[in-house]
Amino acid sequence: MRYSALAIMRQVLKGHRGWTPAWRDPEPQSSYDFIVIGGGGHGLATAYYLAKEHNAARVAVLEKGWIGGGNVGRNTTIIRANYLLDGNQPFYELSLKLWENLEQDLNYNAMVSQRGILNLCHTDAQRDAYRRRGNAMMFTGSGAELLDAEGVRAMYPFLNFDDARFPIKGGLLHRRGGTARHDGVAWGYARAADQRGVDIIQNCEVTGFRIENGKLLGVETTRGYIGAKKVGVAVAGSSGRVMAQAGMRLPIESHVLQAFVTEGLKPVLDGVITYGAGHFYVSQSDKGGLVFGGDIDGYNTYAQRGNLPVVEDVAEGGMSLMPMIGRARLLRMWGGVMDMSMDGSPFIDHTGIEGLYFNGGWCYGGFKATPASGFCFAHLMATDRPHDVATAYRLDRFRTGRMIDEKGVGAQPNLH
Ligand SMILES: Cc1cc2nc3c(=O)[nH]c(=O)nc-3n(C[C@H](O)[C@H](O)[C@H](O)COP(=O)(O)OP(=O)(O)OC[C@H]3O[C@@H](n4cnc5c(N)ncnc54)[C@H](O)[C@@H]3O)c2cc1C
Repeated sequence: MRYSALAIMRQVLKGHRGWTPAWRDPEPQSSYDFIVIGGGGHGLATAYYLAKEHNAARVAVLEKGWIGGGNVGRNTTIIRANYLLDGNQPFYELSLKLWENLEQDLNYNAMVSQRGILNLCHTDAQRDAYRRRGNAMMFTGSGAELLDAEGVRAMYPFLNFDDARFPIKGGLLHRRGGTARHDGVAWGYARAADQRGVDIIQNCEVTGFRIENGKLLGVETTRGYIGAKKVGVAVAGSSGRVMAQAGMRLPIESHVLQAFVTEGLKPVLDGVITYGAGHFYVSQSDKGGLVFGGDIDGYNTYAQRGNLPVVEDVAEGGMSLMPMIGRARLLRMWGGVMDMSMDGSPFIDHTGIEGLYFNGGWCYGGFKATPASGFCFAHLMATDRPHDVATAYRLDRFRTGRMIDEKGVGAQPNLH
């Protein structure tokens, strides 16, 4: 079924009794050409592009819970391509281009909204760094504008300009960045993949790999053994645990990241703002809630809930940036498990096991990467060659000294 205004009108006449499920609920087959483990944004996008770009016919996504229950449905929905380094920026620009056509491609309203992102700067050195980053963004066509304090004040007069410990000196504006409805992205990819014949199998946890003579044969699951020619792992916060089942230890730690939403307010914030003197980012959802977040909790965990010190830290960041936020009542908070890599950049790579591929290490930033991650992972799995924009995302980069340390802060997950 194609979604359109006409389809809605037809359903109105039928009392909305003709809608069909967005995707099937198939039983797992005994084997597939491609299995993707993890029904988050990255796994679903990978399956979709395997079917769409590489005509792969026998593809399954195995998800231990339900579609959208992981980080793809827990994030603060920010999408952007405002990176500095060669290894990253072209990849994120490809992602942004895919976002720009995503809803037409998937025939699904993922509420992609290019409302702009403003990174605030509070020191001269930070302004210099933003200028440099803005130039890198302009090289890839992502677009960047450097604003002075008056330019920022004209956009967001409610920010704390006059009484701030860290005065706002300006900002780097990335107009093509913005937000997208997080779980809508998962549902859109799931539906479009299903329509191309991909089996999306929920409540199917992968519990082990069958490997013989360095070659992958298939996966053990809670619903039985399933054979596969190629298996891609895209399980985000569970990367360490799942890859350990294949005998691999990754340069990744799992940490919890919390997010927050206030009660619905009248429109006050029409873009995304990030605070440069602390870790705080905020946007306003279409329902009116201010959606915001800050740092990871800073200890290793697989729990999807965090602790009060970070809540306090995030609240302090919000108050020092825009004191009026103190008048809003907090509605909900939640956590997601982040696959923090040691240099803050991801992996899309082969493993030492024939037929086994790995995608992970997305840290805070994997939602915006969803389309390009799926596109490039599908390319790698189908062709055994990395996509041109993802050649740097190698698992051996720490051994070879080719880290992609975007922030230049060194190999420590709590700094990325
Ligand atoms: C609070 C928060 C805010 C964030 N904000 C942003 C943001 O604003 N912008 C941004 O770009 N990024 C953001 N992120 C990061 C982003 O959400 C993640 O990097 C990204 O969603 C991870 O990829 P995914 O969608 O595939 O992960 P997930 O949705 O977590 O998918 C992984 C799936 O694997 C499944 N799985 C795990 N183990 C197994 C197994 N053994 N067998 C089968 N399935 C398994 C899980 O159940 C899960 O559904 C945020 C994350 C959080 C938690």
